Amino acid sequence: MSEERNLAQEGKEVDTFSAKCPNCGSAMVFDADSQSLKCEHCGTTGEIEKDFEVIENDIALGFAQAETWGQDEQSTYKCDNCGAVVVISADEEAKKCPFCQTTHVVKDGSFKTIRPHMVIPFQFGAEKASEYSKKWAKSRLFAPSKFKKSLNVENLVGVYEPCFTFDSNTNSHYVGRVGDRRTRVVGSGKNRRTETYIVYRNVSGTHASFFNDVMIASNSKFTQTELNSLAPFDTAQACVYEKKYLSGYVADGYQVNLDYCWNGAKRVIDDEIRSQIRSRLHCDVVDYLNVTTTHSNVTYKYLLLPVYTLVYKYNKKEYPVRINGSTGKVKGKTPVSAIRVIIAILLGLGLIALVIWLFWYLNL
Ligand SMILES: [Zn+2]
Ligand SMILES: [Zn+2]
Repeated sequence: MSEERNLAQEGKEVDTFSAKCPNCGSAMVFDADSQSLKCEHCGTTGEIEKDFEVIENDIALGFAQAETWGQDEQSTYKCDNCGAVVVISADEEAKKCPFCQTTHVVKDGSFKTIRPHMVIPFQFGAEKASEYSKKWAKSRLFAPSKFKKSLNVENLVGVYEPCFTFDSNTNSHYVGRVGDRRTRVVGSGKNRRTETYIVYRNVSGTHASFFNDVMIASNSKFTQTELNSLAPFDTAQACVYEKKYLSGYVADGYQVNLDYCWNGAKRVIDDEIRSQIRSRLHCDVVDYLNVTTTHSNVTYKYLLLPVYTLVYKYNKKEYPVRINGSTGKVKGKTPVSAIRVIIAILLGLGLIALVIWLFWYLNL
């Protein structure tokens, strides 16, 4: 095995654009553990200087100023089996579909997409990701032991999932009727008691709020629910997209348009504004609250999120597990062991019986 070298430290220039090893000519891939480029063949590393400039684009211009993600940088493949659209670095070749593991992948030159503006690079490699998923599997109370022990991490794959993030300056006007709970003492003698009643008040006013990086998933394979379950992603790790972050990993092609995602973002923002106004009003109940909001200085960016995906087959069923490649948070489904559930119920019943017996014994 060849000795590992760091040419950047030796003062030799590493041509990171071609992603070819300056020592042996093999492909260099992004190595998440060292946050550098690493030759898969001889282990030579090339340092990466990250550009943390924040790119925001005027939403009014749409994709007018967006660059196309050219074929000099990426190749798009379509999986004939599951329909996934997989984007890989132009220097590499797709061998199998990361989602269904079949080899029915064909190059799809017709796929058009804009170039990502920013990326949160994977912060740790596949080994660490499998450690996280094994630890997670062990902590699942009702999962069968066989599942815990044999969680197959071989088909774990790092996929950059696309999303749009939106910033908006909002100004809202609200009109409504809200109520506060009060208590009073009624009746006399034996009928004396405290009752709760609600005093309503009419409210109206304005509310201003700035929203930063509202994340909306832009792919049907990676839904908003999945994004929310893996959130938060550490946006402080986001840097300007460059081809090298993709080498060794794959990206999901985005399939949902900007307007659709912006509408999704507005719903998220509306909900947040309503709860901000509610907490400002210090009320206990809301009879109605009508809010009209105007958005200004709306910007967006197309961002890639690091997600490790693992599909685990157990008793002919598939259980997908996802790991946030930025924080290590794991989300997934596991099979349920009937025996473990029964034991838990019996333990619960036993505990209740013990408490009842204690009350009876101690004459409480
Ligand atoms: Zn090399
Ligand atoms: Zn597939």
